[in-house]
Order: sequence, then C-alpha cells, then structure tokens
Amino acid sequence: MEYICFNCGGTVKADEVVRRIRCLYCGGRILYKKRPKIVKSVKAR
Ligand SMILES: [Zn+2]
Repeated sequence: MEYICFNCGGTVKADEVVRRIRCLYCGGRILYKKRPKIVKSVKAR
C-alpha cells in the first residue's frame, strides 16, 4: 500500500511510514492512503 503526501504529493510506501507517519520528502505529517484502482463489477459466484 502507498500513501500520498498531502503537502507535496510525494508517494510514500507503507513500509516507510510504519513507524512514524511522515513524508520522506517534505516531512509533512498529513498522508492519505492511495486509493486502489476501481475494479469493475465482478460477478459473484
Ligand atoms: Zn511531502
């Protein structure tokens, strides 16, 4: 999973923010989860 920095828009991997939520590039604390791609409707079995 990846996070996007709200401040600079940098991509931060979850591994790197597991200890402390912080942007590697600008030090910003506001990160939000990168949304997974929207999957087209899947037929349920
Ligand atoms: Zn940043």
